Amino acid sequence: MARTALRGRLLDFVGDPAQSVAAVRLVDDGLLLIDNGRIVARGEYRPLSRALNPSEEVTDLSGCLLMPGFIDTHTHFPQLDVVASPSGGLLDWLTKHAYPAEAKFADPAVCEDAARFFLDELAANGTTSACVLGTVHAQSVEALFAEAHARGMRVVAGKCLMDRNCPNELRDSADDGVRDSLDLAARWHGKARLAYAITPRFAASCSDRQLQLAGELARARPDLYVQSHLAESESEVRWVRELFPRARSYLDVYDSFGLLRERSIYAHCIWLDSIDRQRFAQSRATAAVCPSSNLFLGSGTFDFRQAVQSGMAIALATDIGGGQSFSMLAAMRAAHDVARLKGSVLPATQLFYWATRGAAQTLGWDDQVGTLEAGAEADLLVLDLAATPLLARRTAAADSVEALLFALMHLGDDRAVRETFIAGRPSKRRRRATLSGMAAVDSARSRELALRFAGRLRAAPGDGVLKP
Ligand SMILES: [Zn+2]
Repeated sequence: MARTALRGRLLDFVGDPAQSVAAVRLVDDGLLLIDNGRIVARGEYRPLSRALNPSEEVTDLSGCLLMPGFIDTHTHFPQLDVVASPSGGLLDWLTKHAYPAEAKFADPAVCEDAARFFLDELAANGTTSACVLGTVHAQSVEALFAEAHARGMRVVAGKCLMDRNCPNELRDSADDGVRDSLDLAARWHGKARLAYAITPRFAASCSDRQLQLAGELARARPDLYVQSHLAESESEVRWVRELFPRARSYLDVYDSFGLLRERSIYAHCIWLDSIDRQRFAQSRATAAVCPSSNLFLGSGTFDFRQAVQSGMAIALATDIGGGQSFSMLAAMRAAHDVARLKGSVLPATQLFYWATRGAAQTLGWDDQVGTLEAGAEADLLVLDLAATPLLARRTAAADSVEALLFALMHLGDDRAVRETFIAGRPSKRRRRATLSGMAAVDSARSRELALRFAGRLRAAPGDGVLKP
């Protein structure tokens, strides 16, 4: 593959903006050289361009921001088809929408189709890496890894361990769950850019024995990740207290089974107390904060101030399908809004850091991704500051990096993602809306299908009724 030269405004972080204002690095007229999947040079355009061969073409991305690709630290690919479905909260959402959708993943063809769509959607939104939960079925994770491998993506994934309090068709056993996890890890962990995560779905869906076996595996294999959910909603926390009466807290359930350690990623972390926060920070686990999902399901508001003060490692996540958007920009603006509800202001630079370099650091990918430094893997995002008339007008008026990023995260979405590079390859596919299993349809056919589907819709008793 020929060397790629990109000219534009370069933005990345050399450290945590909360620690130092010098952590934000911006080159107004920069050049980035990519060769063989890696960044080989970065810097000011003028001096660096002299090193180019006369035959080398430079892609002019003036007016765009070139930055490291987003890292989504918690998302469910099997919940694609229930994104934006209403519910009365987390447990209602799981039984009404998530579990029925996941049951369909017993069929490998469903897994493969969803894996393709899901990874396309990540790239469309500028996300180059993700920590992904499959279903209980090993074939769901098999399909996701195969597709991510074909695209050269850096992905963490695991099959859900769930042997109680869920529908029969989604139930494994403690022993089968660990065996399937080990099989998947043997096939995929460490292959190219893939990594396996031991994935107890959440404490309430796992028996003591299942958590015990998962913990033993986590101790025996410190190279594997652990991912799960923690203290998402109040009713869930109450339920976990009933199921594990001896545990001091929800966090203590995972901790007592050996599942709280470096390389463990816990989504939500809303209902923690100060002892939990201290213990979490000390364990060097990652809090994957999912504010869009938390607002959508009414789960609660993450306390950024307390989490930062106690030294917890924070990253951001979409939590598809509890979250409604694949865009990490949407996750950032929800994080901002949630912090405001708690009386603090989160700077945009901090949020962009958590979505890129901060996530890479806490996942152990420091210097590999989340940075534009020479030597890093070329996972990049090109954000078009003039993607919409309002964005163009507003970003033109920005007088600082903070003002620019603040406007971008509040006004931007997938339209602002001009291109996504995965290991140096342009990966944002120009897609047209299709229905599952059908070839691309032309607009006349789309209209016809839309009308036909509309004809099937009927009002159900209780539709649109306020349910307190
Ligand atoms: Zn989740």
